[in-house]
Amino acid sequence: MEAGVSYCGRCGHGLVVETVHGKPRPRCPRCGNIVFLDPKLAAVVLIAIDGKLVLVRRANEPALGEWSFPSGYVDRGEAVEDAAVREVREETGLVVEVTRLIGVYSRTGDPIVLAAYAAEVVGGVLQAGEEVSDAALFDPDALPPLPFFHDAGILRAWRDR
Ligand SMILES: [Zn+2]
Repeated sequence: MEAGVSYCGRCGHGLVVETVHGKPRPRCPRCGNIVFLDPKLAAVVLIAIDGKLVLVRRANEPALGEWSFPSGYVDRGEAVEDAAVREVREETGLVVEVTRLIGVYSRTGDPIVLAAYAAEVVGGVLQAGEEVSDAALFDPDALPPLPFFHDAGILRAWRDR
């Protein structure tokens, strides 16, 4: 069972996983409540400065200590582009404007959906911000190993433009 959905939100009874509408879903055996878990949306941002890409070194799991693109979860009610801009500002100190959607990335069995954007810098100074231990520029042809499943596809789609 996924974290946070062990108990029925309606009556407080423990949930069980049953096949409902063709998929395993948490269901309450007492009141019949079915929990439909939503996907989780994250924004990923590729920012080029003089031909180099901004990466941040992650200070949290997953991929603690590894370099990755600035990214973060979209708050409920927040425009996705606004989340992209906010996460970049929090993690890198840079003020950016989104220039295009690179693509939307998901895969079967993974609760996280990524919206990948390209952005350009309009202000700020590159520095390590919240939830990262470093922020730096890398030549796109000499990036460190990127930790996440969709990273290579996002990078390829960004380059193909
Ligand atoms: Zn219940």
